[in-house]
Amino acid sequence: MSDPRAAVAAVVDPEIRVVTIDELGILRAVEEDPASGRVTVTITPTYTGCPAMDVIRADIRRALAAAGHGDAEVRTVYSPAWSTDWISEGGRAKLAAAGIVPPAPVPAAGVVPLTLAVRCPHCGSPETEQVSRFGSTACKALWRCRSCSDPFDHLKAL
Ligand SMILES: [Zn+2]
Repeated sequence: MSDPRAAVAAVVDPEIRVVTIDELGILRAVEEDPASGRVTVTITPTYTGCPAMDVIRADIRRALAAAGHGDAEVRTVYSPAWSTDWISEGGRAKLAAAGIVPPAPVPAAGVVPLTLAVRCPHCGSPETEQVSRFGSTACKALWRCRSCSDPFDHLKAL
């Protein structure tokens, strides 16, 4: 049997296949009961109603079974709510390389948020516009660059 944490951390996000659920900050905890060997995984969904969560739960069970941990439970916790701040530095770099713009960190309470331009991941131009609230998946919005006219996905910030 291999380390259950390592097996679960390697599960990739089914919608954004370049990053793992660990890098996205979805994975909260992996606990193994020393007596029974039962593994309990705790995850927090990125967005309410994100259909990918069912796929993620199934992928986690499959990864644990492949690592020799057939007895596993996946718990979903909604508090504290996932925020884009939980995306790791490595995850942000991979998203940027894939043309997905990671949202800016959510400002602290009491700070009036400025509407920042979303930069084009292809040419870096801030001359971009949102084309559709829903991009290739329910969790991403589709944007288009006015400079190079390339479309790109932008993760919705909470
Ligand atoms: Zn561009």
